[in-house]
Amino acid sequence: MIVTIKQKILDEMFTYGRAHLPNEACGILLGFRKHHSICVNEFAPLANKSKNPRQKFEINPLELLPYLKEESADRFLVGLFHTHPLASTVPSGEDLKTEWHTVPTHWIISFTDPDRPEVGCYRYLKNANSAIYHALDIFTK
Ligand SMILES: [Zn+2]
Repeated sequence: MIVTIKQKILDEMFTYGRAHLPNEACGILLGFRKHHSICVNEFAPLANKSKNPRQKFEINPLELLPYLKEESADRFLVGLFHTHPLASTVPSGEDLKTEWHTVPTHWIISFTDPDRPEVGCYRYLKNANSAIYHALDIFTK
């Protein structure tokens, strides 16, 4: 799968994530999917509803509804995004338990070095007993 994102959008995600340190921040990515490619056009921040926001994130599904209702040809939910204030970009065991695994891409931004955030993009695959992930290459434009 080929994943393309505008550098401007990545920068918005970095800025939003940094502003919420030391808590985890989260949001969604909108864009389009065509054959084996995904193109991200827009980042929409969502509140982290977790009671333990330094170590977890939780999205209220109701906050997603307006975006799902408005879906149009180039404005589909193509990704979920959250930050790891102190951990690497690798998805945690908790991350892989997500109910949102069918969303095509999962993005994690690590702030282990707050001046040089790192981004990881993954596809989650889940069956009854386990969950695994594949790292995806990101192309910026
Ligand atoms: Zn995580």
